[in-house]
Amino acid sequence: MECCAFRAYILALNGEVLRANPIKKGTMQPLSLYYLPSHTHRQPQRSTFKQTFSSLAARVCAVFLSLLFACVAQAADCAITLQTDDALRFVPSHIVVPSLCKNFTVTLTHTGHLPPLAMSHNWVLTKKSDLDGVARTGMAAGAGAHHVDQTDKRVIAHTKLIGTGETSRVSFAVTTLTKGETYVFLCTFAGHSPIMRGTLVLADVSH
Ligand code: ZN
Repeated sequence: MECCAFRAYILALNGEVLRANPIKKGTMQPLSLYYLPSHTHRQPQRSTFKQTFSSLAARVCAVFLSLLFACVAQAADCAITLQTDDALRFVPSHIVVPSLCKNFTVTLTHTGHLPPLAMSHNWVLTKKSDLDGVARTGMAAGAGAHHVDQTDKRVIAHTKLIGTGETSRVSFAVTTLTKGETYVFLCTFAGHSPIMRGTLVLADVSH
C-alpha cells in the first residue's frame, strides 16, 4: 500500500532502534534522524539517566556514610574533664570510654582553695584488682614523682600531681583497655586513695 511509504516502521535490530525511511523505501536510517513516539524515543535516555542517577546517588550515599562514620567517631566523646576541689572526689566519678575512640584524654582540674601541700590531686588509672598495690607504690613514690611509681606496670595512665588552679592532661591508647574489665582511677596523694576513687569501663557506645 502507498500509505505504507509514509508510515514509520520501528525496528529493533542488534540493540539499535531503526526506522524505515519513508522517502526511500527499503532503506534504513538511524532512529535519531526521525521522529519517534516519545515513549520509544526516550526509553534509552531514561535508562541512562536512571543509571547515572543511581551511580551518583550511590556515591553521595558512600560519602555521606563515611562522613557520618567520621562524625560518629568524632561525636564519640574521646575525652573527659574531671573536676576536683578541696573535697576528696572526682566529678564525675564514672567514665565510659567509647570503643570507637583511638585515644582517650583525661583532663584533671583543681578548683579548690587549700595549699598544694595540704590538698593536691592526681589521677591514676589501673585495674580494680591492682588498686591497693598501685595506691601503696604511689604513696611511697612521693610528691616529687607525682605520687606515681614509674616502674609500676600496673599503672595504665596517670596525670601529674596538681594543686589548686592547676590542670593536668593525659592521653592513652584505648587498645590498652579490655571490654568487661573493671578499671578504677584514684588519687594517690597522701591518704586520698581510700576515698578519692572512680570507675572506668570500655563500652561500645558513641557517647
Ligand atoms: Zn587527691
